[in-house]
Amino acid sequence: MTKNSQPKHTPLISQFLKIKKEQPDALLLFRMGDFYETFFDDAKRASKILGITLTTRDKNKATGVPLAGFPYHALDTYLKKLLDNGIKVAICEQVEDPKKTKKLVKRKIVEVITPGTILEDNYLNSSNNNFLTSIFPENDKWGIASIDISTGEFSCTEINAKNLIDELVRIHPSEILIPENQISNIEKRMRGFYNPVFTEYESWRFDFVEAENILKQHFAVASLDGFGLKSNYLAISAAASVLSYIQGLKGDENNHLTNITFYSAENSLQVDSISRHNLELIKSIQTKEKSGTLLDAINKTNTPMGNRLLQHWLLNPLIEKHKIEQRLNAVEELLNNEQIKNAIIEIISEIGDMERIIGKVGSKKVYPRDLNALKEYLQFAHPLADILKIVKSELLCDLHNSIQNFDEVVLLIDNAICDEAPPTITAGGIFKENYNNELDELRSISKNGKSWIAKLESEEREKTKIERLKIKFNNVFGYFIEISNRQTDKVPESYIRKQTLVNSERYITPELKEYENKVLGAEERIKQIEHSLFNDIREKMIKFINRMQKFTTIIAKLDVLTNFAQLAYYNNYVKPTISNDTEIIIKDARHPVVEKLISEEEFIPNDIYLNNKSDRILLITGPNMAGKSTYLRQVGLIVIMAHIGCYIPASKATISITDKIFTRVGASDNLALGQSTFLVEMIETANILHNATPRSLILLDEVGRGTSTFDGLSIAWAVVEYLHENQKIAAKTLFATHYHELTELADLFDGVKNYNITVNEWKDKIIFLRKVLPGAADQSYGIQVAKLAGIPNKVIERAKEILSELEKNELTTTNKVERTKRKLKTNIQTDFLDYLSNKASEKNDILEKLHKVDINNLSPLEALNFLSEIKKKL
Ligand code: ADP
Repeated sequence: MTKNSQPKHTPLISQFLKIKKEQPDALLLFRMGDFYETFFDDAKRASKILGITLTTRDKNKATGVPLAGFPYHALDTYLKKLLDNGIKVAICEQVEDPKKTKKLVKRKIVEVITPGTILEDNYLNSSNNNFLTSIFPENDKWGIASIDISTGEFSCTEINAKNLIDELVRIHPSEILIPENQISNIEKRMRGFYNPVFTEYESWRFDFVEAENILKQHFAVASLDGFGLKSNYLAISAAASVLSYIQGLKGDENNHLTNITFYSAENSLQVDSISRHNLELIKSIQTKEKSGTLLDAINKTNTPMGNRLLQHWLLNPLIEKHKIEQRLNAVEELLNNEQIKNAIIEIISEIGDMERIIGKVGSKKVYPRDLNALKEYLQFAHPLADILKIVKSELLCDLHNSIQNFDEVVLLIDNAICDEAPPTITAGGIFKENYNNELDELRSISKNGKSWIAKLESEEREKTKIERLKIKFNNVFGYFIEISNRQTDKVPESYIRKQTLVNSERYITPELKEYENKVLGAEERIKQIEHSLFNDIREKMIKFINRMQKFTTIIAKLDVLTNFAQLAYYNNYVKPTISNDTEIIIKDARHPVVEKLISEEEFIPNDIYLNNKSDRILLITGPNMAGKSTYLRQVGLIVIMAHIGCYIPASKATISITDKIFTRVGASDNLALGQSTFLVEMIETANILHNATPRSLILLDEVGRGTSTFDGLSIAWAVVEYLHENQKIAAKTLFATHYHELTELADLFDGVKNYNITVNEWKDKIIFLRKVLPGAADQSYGIQVAKLAGIPNKVIERAKEILSELEKNELTTTNKVERTKRKLKTNIQTDFLDYLSNKASEKNDILEKLHKVDINNLSPLEALNFLSEIKKKL
């Protein structure tokens, strides 16, 4: 806006600059007739992002203002593109009729939209929440608060700084409000996962009292205690900042934000982002889409609310035995009572995105058709309550008892809104007859007026004997009589000529004009009245929001629970027993996703037994492709499924309450995240060793693969040893490896057990039996697997020769490992973590040095010295 200070601008550009000042960081779409125009820097950005032509206004002047625009009806398409690019958009409309003014038409910003504050269905995905999240730091803690303005969800928490990224990735906001100077740091760390939009929020540093007041005022309460927010200073500050950001953009029309929940990560089974990635809970590693994930495999929900709730449950599995059992018992009851289950499904399948309609009620953006939909959905409350009358399980009884009566609001809508309501509120035709006397009167005038004009037309034809006489209407003259040139000689004197066309003449009469005024005036007034009556209805709806939101939660829960019952029925899942003991026992476990993917081959079920003593660390050996990863993951997925209250793919199971699940995959499989492989693998492993507890489940798949064989073997060995020795961790662990050398560990330590995935060799070929049996694999079968993968025979033969040479070598495997360990100067038991982090920081040092060095400014001697220094470090 460098031109701002120059006085030469036209009145229009001056008006633009004045309005732009209200939202300086938003791209301003400035309505001019049938176009939205952008100016100056906005125009440059818009033309680049939207691919529209950049021109200048007033081309003759040297000071031409950059300009780019698009037709108003294309707003949807272009707005979506801008939002997808993370741009904040301010929409400025003409707020008076250009026809009615000779001066510059008045304009006003009517809405500011950012990726995290979208309300319009067109830009939202019905199966995902759209969160705006604010974060607030102090020392090594952060407050986090998220709002989905489209559904009214509002929650907050406090976490340690080291878990910030993990939590943000879990929430998956489309926009993050962030303190000054923190963006680059956090953006960099998020980038490996996804790219949300960051908005620096300058005026967000409230003192605590102010933050508390913002919330108290919004919820109209004297204290926040009722929300479980006591002295949660950071959470409250984050919540106040996200709320006031929304208020700044949307005004006070946030009536659907009726509640705020404080949650704590410790209250759910924690699955960190890397584990979620590796287990493919929500997003497939390959396609980044939902297909091929656990969510996809267990999602047959029938409503958008259920769809979103299932995702929420999957990201927040329960850890209280009683709560999990409540869900499982509800699923059991639905499974056993097919009639109830089917009746519920039949009803909820009729229900659309009620939660987002209520969101629109809250922000006073609801349309007549939305209200009709809402009326239809609310009418299901009675039949649903009837169906649920005979349920016995605790959770279903609770849901039944929470269904309220919506007769009042149904009546309100039903009395007012026409069944065939228009999509907008400006066109008229919203209200039923008998809703408003004045409206009825005006409508009759308008209707009769029109039929009067039809009558006049035929009367005039009679009178004048001009059979082609027509009464027509246009915006310039209103009603007029049109007569073709050939018959103008018959025109009576009382007609007043208004216009001559090539083939006809147009006339008016005083009588016609009198009626016109009445009819047109009535139509105009009808629109005004309907608009204002509809605003009254919008206002009246607000008091029902809270109750209606509770009903959507009931629908969502019924949807997910019936979904679980259907899954159990069609996929042959069973109810797990949840225990507070330490054992995990699963009989005939299957992988819920893989079993659906392999069609020609049958999925082979496998058992698992884990406890915290004798069978704490299971080493799973077997050649590549034997099914190790599948086995590990199916255990993780089944444990998670049990914790969300879902039946599981097995024939019988007891699952002990688990606090955290860690899944790490050998670095070469982890390239998808685009990070330095070995380093990441080590940092991740160290992180597990820091955070796991005896209630945790650790799944390590080929850890140590990301480096040379002996390094890898040593690290894998060291990790198992460390897990075994360290009583504080004592977590249940599955360790899959193709290093069959590791199986020696089972002889050395109690609690470490060997299992192998069986294969048969037949005529130099390998046959995968996929059965997990006790005991170690006797060889790696690497060469056979290579053959299977299509490696040429010549190479395979040579590899066999080399292998037999190696096998003749006297050095035993254990000796090799010991030697490597010594070489690495690692005291494995006590210094393992130091070793990992040293190794990590050494590599970082070198990378940083390389990054910083300015090659162009080094003399040849300096360059050589630098090279030698790096080499020494390596
Ligand atoms: P590994 O980790 O040992 O290399 P994977 O777990 O990746 O092997 O399994 C390789 C393939 O084998 C899987 O993609 C799947 O198609 C098949 N598979 C794995 N486990 C089973 C099983 N229990 N029954 C049938 N097929 C299986």
